Amino acid sequence: MNISTRVAIVTGSGRGIGRVIALKLAESGVRVVLNDVGDVKPVEAVAKEIKAMGMECLQVMADVSSSADVTRLVDETMSAYKRVDILVNNAGIARDQLILRMSEEDWDKVLAVDLKSVFLCTKAVLRPMAKQRWGRVINISSIVGIIGNKGQANYAAAKAGVIGFTRAVAKEVASHGVTVNAVAPGFIDTEMTRGLKEDWRQELKKLIPLGEFGTPRDVAEAVAFLASEGAGYITGQVLGVDGGM
Ligand code: NAP
Repeated sequence: MNISTRVAIVTGSGRGIGRVIALKLAESGVRVVLNDVGDVKPVEAVAKEIKAMGMECLQVMADVSSSADVTRLVDETMSAYKRVDILVNNAGIARDQLILRMSEEDWDKVLAVDLKSVFLCTKAVLRPMAKQRWGRVINISSIVGIIGNKGQANYAAAKAGVIGFTRAVAKEVASHGVTVNAVAPGFIDTEMTRGLKEDWRQELKKLIPLGEFGTPRDVAEAVAFLASEGAGYITGQVLGVDGGM
């Protein structure tokens, strides 16, 4: 099938890495379903950029940690485009705190948005993908889920969970023509990391062999590759985009 008929849902695509993934997929001819939870304006701005490329897109505001919202997200996609080929589970949050000060609420919230959402969204797209006998699920994990990080026990647990989920589901759905992979970014320049204090950013840079924070485009290139026809024999993998960390 020609890539121009493909449909991708990108969660959390109003800003940051998700926005650039959505633009990159649209550039390669994929029809994109934009999703976000808060303010509709950033999503409308991304939709405008995509339409300016002459591409179609759909906007669905939905909280990906809510099963009712996820059902609506996939239902609206199916009614508009009758198919879903690519799911990028990108939406994520951080609520950093040292473990002794971490509230149960911050633990639950991060696990819900960063891990449960991956389960809900993946489960919701698997039937249509299996019916099409073609699908690509790409989960955005993090280097922190692999090596850990002080003050991020909730985030590290969720992102490590995403990797375990990726490997398990890849084995379950391979026979239906669906691949499931993860991308594990290192430190990427977005609002999520701009909140870090400057001295901590400088310390983190020392850990990056390539010497700089990555850009959302670096992550989007990896996602576009895993979403492509050419990546069909790759499943259950975790691709680091971390400057060599
Ligand atoms: P970001 O700039 O904070 O953007 C996150 C996006 O997710 C926002 O559009 C946000 O919407 C959306 N979102 C949050 N909760 C949601 C929910 N419940 N339902 C739907 N959408 C929701 O973050 P980012 O840096 O681009 O990160 C994107 C992904 O990459 C995350 O999974 C993050 O953990 C991962 N990652 C980031 C880095 C990094 O260094 N930046 C490194 C490794 C991994 P609102 O605008 O409405 O809040």
